[in-house]
Amino acid sequence: MLFICRQSGSAANMKSVKPIHRFLAVSLVALCFFATAGLYSGGATPAVLPAVPATVDTINPGELRMHLSFLASEELGGRYTLSPGFQIAARYLASHLEAYGFRGAGEHGSFLQTFELITSKVDSSKTSLEMTIGGKPATFSLGEAPPSFGSASGDVSGQIVFAGYGISSPAQKHDDYAGLDVKGKIVLIASGAPTGIDSSKLAPTESGTSAAQAHGAVGLLQLPPARFLQFLKNKEATERFATRESVRLAKAGESKLPSMTLGPDAADKLLGAAGMNLKSILETTEKKAPLQPKAFEASAHISIVSIQSRSTTQNVAGILEGSDPKLKDEYVTFSAHYDHLKTNANGQIYPGADDDGSGTVSVLAIARAMSVQRPKRSVLIIFHAGEELGLLGSEYNSDFAPVVPLDKMVVDLNIDMIGRSKPEGDTQAEDQRLTDAHSIYLVGSNRISPELHALSEDTNAEFQKLRLDYYYNDPENPERIYFRSDHWNYAKHGIPIIFYFDGVHVDYHKVTDTVDKIDFEKMTQVTRLVFETGWRIANLDHRLTKAN
Ligand SMILES: [Zn+2]
Repeated sequence: MLFICRQSGSAANMKSVKPIHRFLAVSLVALCFFATAGLYSGGATPAVLPAVPATVDTINPGELRMHLSFLASEELGGRYTLSPGFQIAARYLASHLEAYGFRGAGEHGSFLQTFELITSKVDSSKTSLEMTIGGKPATFSLGEAPPSFGSASGDVSGQIVFAGYGISSPAQKHDDYAGLDVKGKIVLIASGAPTGIDSSKLAPTESGTSAAQAHGAVGLLQLPPARFLQFLKNKEATERFATRESVRLAKAGESKLPSMTLGPDAADKLLGAAGMNLKSILETTEKKAPLQPKAFEASAHISIVSIQSRSTTQNVAGILEGSDPKLKDEYVTFSAHYDHLKTNANGQIYPGADDDGSGTVSVLAIARAMSVQRPKRSVLIIFHAGEELGLLGSEYNSDFAPVVPLDKMVVDLNIDMIGRSKPEGDTQAEDQRLTDAHSIYLVGSNRISPELHALSEDTNAEFQKLRLDYYYNDPENPERIYFRSDHWNYAKHGIPIIFYFDGVHVDYHKVTDTVDKIDFEKMTQVTRLVFETGWRIANLDHRLTKAN
């Protein structure tokens, strides 16, 4: 799961949850169904839920342990997206999907969906911001005004013009640049969008540096969003963050404008020259109220040198064709991220047994169980790359080149960390939210499809009887878990999702996230729940309904 920077400023990212069952022989499985079927009570027309086959019992602790012992081994080196070990992990997953009878969902029938990444690092000795405000020059450090994430290199000067939210969208009939001359100038913008604008539907070219560049601007200054304010007040942490190596998706037609984000002090210094202040602007953006464009008696010289390199990585994706000729063009998706963290400066590897070795091997076990007896709808398995780097693999598969049409994706059941349980008597503060051996957090199940939530609840009540905890599903929860794993990139397109998660713990993103600490009995139960839930969705006589 993705690490984020909290308001507390303690950490950093700018973007911004028995019994061992015996294996059942294939012939036996084909004949053997659980006779029970739950009643669905979540929609307008209650319907009998599809029966779940005994193939679910093929998911067992020994299988999960076998896969995880390989993927989280020292030899794999921690599965950092840009590491040789990651390629081996990809091959392992692809080979297994192929053996289970899946077909490759990537290019030319391959199981690998490749895409390009850009690694960049700001050269702090050659990067600076100078502003002349009311005739007085001032220089700002990287801690006071860091280059914006993914900024291009450049050395530009110009008068500063405030362009409100900086949105220019013909489709949504909104243009902050209307009547504004920004040619050869540096545009200042606030983050957010006014009422009436659906940010999720803005094309990349309709905001930020791309929109500024399209209108002739030479550079961009961004006012800090409210949720990063606290972090940006810590100038040392901000400078460290600004000069770290970062990785992003390579996107065609990326803007060439250099861009910096003003910390609170720099922002107030500049805004003061025009009789404005950051507090009132943030109050305005919070209310989604309009912002008036304004010319400043101020100019800026932005100089950014960012050293960049390109590399290729891959998601691993496979399709198991559904058994129903009419329903097989719809896909029930199971996902997990198979990447983890880069070896640290001391040469220590991060095994990532729970994060997200646990989800990866669970999805692999679900793939095998599905292949023993195929459901009506098709099954899409996708192991995402680059999750720890900012949900990059799922961003690629959702926003750029989906392996199946997004409107054919019925659901994404995403597993990221389900292998740990809180030992009895554990009083460590870091384990405060870690679920016990019989509990798991579910996030997002009710947000898009109330029917999905009801089906999930009914299925759990009928079979695994785990305690489903919705603590992290509270939209006000400061951890913002709903946005911190790959399901988010599908949810944002209106695809119903459930995210299964055991909770943050003492070994989260540490070198101590190892296989010996995994609770394979609990993991088996959760994996079976995900299988049962997915099986039912794949065999429903109708597609999951969504909230209005
Ligand atoms: Zn993580």
